[in-house]
Amino acid sequence: MTSSTSTKIAIVGYGSQGRAHALNLRDSGFDVTVGLRPGGPTEAKAKADGFVVKSPAEAVKDADLVAVLTPDMVQKKLYEDVLRDNLKQGAVLLFAHGLNVHFGMISPREDLDVVLVAPKGPGALVRREYEIGRGVPCIYAVYQDKSGKAEEFALAYAGGLGGARANIIKTTFKEETETDLFGEQAVLCGGASSLVQAGFETLVEAGYQPEIAYYEVLHELKLIVDLFYEGGITRMLEFISETAQYGDFVSGPRVIDASVKARMKDVLTDIQNGTFVRNWQAEYDAGLPNYRKFQQADKDHPIEKVGKELRAKMVWLQGNAGPASEEQA
Ligand code: NAD
Ligand code: MG
Ligand code: MG
Ligand code: MG
Ligand code: MG
Repeated sequence: MTSSTSTKIAIVGYGSQGRAHALNLRDSGFDVTVGLRPGGPTEAKAKADGFVVKSPAEAVKDADLVAVLTPDMVQKKLYEDVLRDNLKQGAVLLFAHGLNVHFGMISPREDLDVVLVAPKGPGALVRREYEIGRGVPCIYAVYQDKSGKAEEFALAYAGGLGGARANIIKTTFKEETETDLFGEQAVLCGGASSLVQAGFETLVEAGYQPEIAYYEVLHELKLIVDLFYEGGITRMLEFISETAQYGDFVSGPRVIDASVKARMKDVLTDIQNGTFVRNWQAEYDAGLPNYRKFQQADKDHPIEKVGKELRAKMVWLQGNAGPASEEQA
């Protein structure tokens, strides 16, 4: 594994993470094959990127390391139908999110090394940063170390992704799974989108123009987040006016108060005790009825209509949806 050219890696799944991992590892000198369902939606993309694409069963047969980069909810079935009987004896099984292993949906064969390498960023960013000579921080963990070299494999893989250029931190499957779910639910995706929608609704219901409300609560958020990214909350405070700072100090904690934190703790408890995953699995098995309803409600929110009109005037967004459009948490 450490001598990259001799290590055969099979990447199963060619979506957000799969594509970025396959391209970065190939550019780092690994021998990469992509495993996909024949005729599936991303097969053409992998071929266009110059990869040999095989069925998942064929791709994993002679691989030294298999990275499972399909959606989380199909991994259990993929493991049972394909991986369990086709993985090479003593191979390394790698995940980018610990959910299935941590919550016991997948119990990996005992001869395997089982590791986790999770870039702390969406796939498009993992690729973009690599291409410009930088990297996205990666966290890694070892669940099963049959060979005694599992950690070495995980580090070599994370290095091949470009993670070593940023930072690599050791974690556990439990910590990665629970913190990743909490972050995307309470802050990054769920928290941030609900905060923006509530702010927009408050202004529009008070009679202000939707266009102005959009700029105030959504468009300008990028500038603030860029400052967080570069230098934390301190850097943001250095860039905003004294008036904005005073307003932040007195009103921020009125909006995000102790009751919000108490509900964040409830969200975390549901993640930790398996309630969230149980509900998500049931929803998935039922054919995603509520998921689709929620998704439609977000798409139908008035902020989306005004946003579409305003973004049509941002010439730099035209004809290029931008890498961010491929990004997911
Ligand atoms: P995705 O939905 O973008 O892509 C999934 C890929 O798997 C597609 O190529 C799809 O065609 C393929 N696929 C679906 N079912 C399959 C099957 N039965 N057999 C073979 N291939 C199949 O997925 P993603 O968002 O990249 O997530 C992959 C993994 O990475 C998940 O474990 C996720 O939690 C983790 N992760 C994702 C991100 C992210 O930014 N998206 C970040 C960190 C970790
Ligand atoms: Mg939402
Ligand atoms: Mg302002
Ligand atoms: Mg504040
Ligand atoms: Mg996640």
